[in-house]
Amino acid sequence: MSLDFRSDTVTRPTPGMLEAMNSAPLGDDVLDGDPTVIALENRIADMFGKEAAIFVPSGTMSNLIAIFLHCRPGEDMICDENAHIFIYEQAGYAQINGVSVRTIPCERGIYTPDNVKNMLRNANLHFPDTVALAVENTHNRGGGSVWPLEELTAVCDTARKNHLTTHLDGARIFNAAVVYEETSGVKRSELLKRIGCLFDTISICFSKGLGSPVGSILLGSADWISKARRRRKVLGGGMRQVGVLAAAADYALDNHIERLTEDHKNAKRLAQGVEDLGADLLRLKYTQTDTNMVFIEITSDKIRTCAAGNSISPAEYFCGKLRESGVQMLPVGEHTVRAVTHLDVDTAAVEKAIKAIANVLDD
Ligand SMILES: *Cc1c(COP(=O)(O)O)cnc(C)c1O
Repeated sequence: MSLDFRSDTVTRPTPGMLEAMNSAPLGDDVLDGDPTVIALENRIADMFGKEAAIFVPSGTMSNLIAIFLHCRPGEDMICDENAHIFIYEQAGYAQINGVSVRTIPCERGIYTPDNVKNMLRNANLHFPDTVALAVENTHNRGGGSVWPLEELTAVCDTARKNHLTTHLDGARIFNAAVVYEETSGVKRSELLKRIGCLFDTISICFSKGLGSPVGSILLGSADWISKARRRRKVLGGGMRQVGVLAAAADYALDNHIERLTEDHKNAKRLAQGVEDLGADLLRLKYTQTDTNMVFIEITSDKIRTCAAGNSISPAEYFCGKLRESGVQMLPVGEHTVRAVTHLDVDTAAVEKAIKAIANVLDD
């Protein structure tokens, strides 16, 4: 049983996925195309009602290529202050694309049309031109938060009206999609098309909740995706017999979307277990658990004292202690620990993790 809650990227391919990878028809995706990759690109473009898609090694490369499509050097892009693009991608927008980013302060990565309007400036010799808006859904540092669909639509409408192009960092967009489906009763196929309409480009990861070992994809217009193909090559992202990975992604689209609701249930159970231990020991950074992430803040005096005695952060100390019982979580701040549910951690693993946390605090 896996007790690794550090990320949803740690999953192993299932036997069914390995079988799909093993039997995939292959070609050379740089030379003249790999049939399994082409089929995947067409399939996912259709799902979101976009013209084209391109398979890339990582979400970081997908976002990097997207920003290249949206902005020329010297232009800037708006995103929120905790966006993955802004925090976790080495400022690739700047160091590789020559683009600057301006950030919206907000809670859980979700903002309003007014926030976007406040970022707009008149054309002026002194300013970079602001040309694009990037939205992250679900929002990673926002605790796996899901944008309300109305807000997402309103923000994208405001962007369009103000001549901004729009990018969705949808690394975990399927986690959001199953939540929309549950709460709205609208069919998922219809929801994906609605989301597709809102954005010029969409980046999606197969290696997160969907449980593939490697791979992301960028969706957009045929023109932009053909430019993306050239850009991917110079970034070193042209891969050859990569149908083996596309087959894993294709298998995940068939078999691993529906089950994301299980991950969400497990995360809610974990959050409840943490809450039950009492706010004087731990508390939830975000009281709402929308999808598969739980952010835990260490409030226990005892843990803080022990951590100080070891000259490490309370988050590191806590995770070190947990690891002694085989449970892994990720320190993401001085006092903050992240736990993510996924394909390889089941309900029993969650119960074990809750017990292990209680033991660390009791010790
Ligand atoms: C993981 C992630 C990425 C980047 O994906 P990599 O494949 O790790 O490069 C981008 N955006 C968000 C929101 C993510 O969670």
